[in-house]
Amino acid sequence: MIALLLGLFVAAPPRAPLAITISTARGDARVPVRTVRGGAPLVPAAPLLAALGGSVRRDGGWADVTVAREEFALLLDAPWFVFAGHAEPLAASATVSRDSIFLPLQFVVEVLPRVFAERYRYDGDAARLVEIGPQLAGAAPAEPPAPRAVADRRTAVDRPPPGGGDRLPSGLRRGHVVAVDAGHGGVDPGNPGLFFPRGTREKDVTLQVALLLRQELKARGIGVRMTRTTDTLIALGDRGRYCTQDCDLFVSLHVNSLPRRSGYTAMRGFETYFLAEARTEDAARVAKVENDAVRFEATPEDTPTGGLDFILKDLQLNEHLRESAQFAAIVQDKLGNVHAGPDRGVKQAGFMVLTTARRPAVLVEMGYSTNPDDGRFLSTPSTQRKLASAIADAVVDYLIDYERRSGTAADSGEGR
Ligand SMILES: [Zn+2]
Repeated sequence: MIALLLGLFVAAPPRAPLAITISTARGDARVPVRTVRGGAPLVPAAPLLAALGGSVRRDGGWADVTVAREEFALLLDAPWFVFAGHAEPLAASATVSRDSIFLPLQFVVEVLPRVFAERYRYDGDAARLVEIGPQLAGAAPAEPPAPRAVADRRTAVDRPPPGGGDRLPSGLRRGHVVAVDAGHGGVDPGNPGLFFPRGTREKDVTLQVALLLRQELKARGIGVRMTRTTDTLIALGDRGRYCTQDCDLFVSLHVNSLPRRSGYTAMRGFETYFLAEARTEDAARVAKVENDAVRFEATPEDTPTGGLDFILKDLQLNEHLRESAQFAAIVQDKLGNVHAGPDRGVKQAGFMVLTTARRPAVLVEMGYSTNPDDGRFLSTPSTQRKLASAIADAVVDYLIDYERRSGTAADSGEGR
């Protein structure tokens, strides 16, 4: 699995055609292929899915694609998709440009023929995806889109009415525990907080929001385990250990910043990371800055040095990636309701702090201290409270959805 993943990460994309042809019982349709600035080739989702008789819609940080009544959820701007309950890496990300969704060409030429081996074959020489098999003879009519089923993926339905002693008013089972990690601390100040009040650094703001998040989670009936409650340093490698057997989620709070360069104070907004190897230059930069905290720790020889190998081997990869990505998308949705800055999306990066968590884990970069508006937003108690409340709402929504998907919504009292 590791070798496969690494192969996908480093594989050079084959030379892309200018267009592909989709050949089905309904005829041939040509779909243009777009390659931007040396990036991976992309195809516009709407004409592609029209040709395939499927559907595509955006759902927060996801592109929900239905082909032959099967649902694929592609993360936007992170090269992963979820199919049949498993997260799988892609060589490139689905993305949105001018309100149109674009899918990686790899999804058409590799994923579809693999998933639907009986139905689709891709002819690389002719740049043609051919519909084969029984569907062809039937001249299958276009399938109606199935937005309802897709939407259910993250919307709790049919959950029992609240009121039982083991249920919270939200419908959530009692007994959930979330680990809240205030980034940095002690001799590691995090970023200097250019537009924070004098003397306030990243470590102070992460702790302030973390303490508010604890209150907000408790108010929602969720147990909280803090990695720190004071200005102290917890080794990066130890933070994840706060979330093991009896813990449901790990949330690490951070504040972004940019190095001094032309126009650097203009960048603002919030993003949520789940664990994977960094895929973009910017994600790699953020990961490097956050991982740099290792240098403050007393015993550097104890810290892992194996890079991606180390990160992957210690995880139940699919399960945690899928759940972490789901949770990250919900966090972004909720933050979008309260944050004044732009939604910079769900991202992935190789954060050491997340690698030792044994449960789904995300790292929230709540905004940029190098932007005056974000700096004020992040250091003002009333808006800190809004951030904490939004993240707590995301936790509840995620856990309700998790309970529904895992079947614990109905059989009350079952722990996991
Ligand atoms: Zn940080």
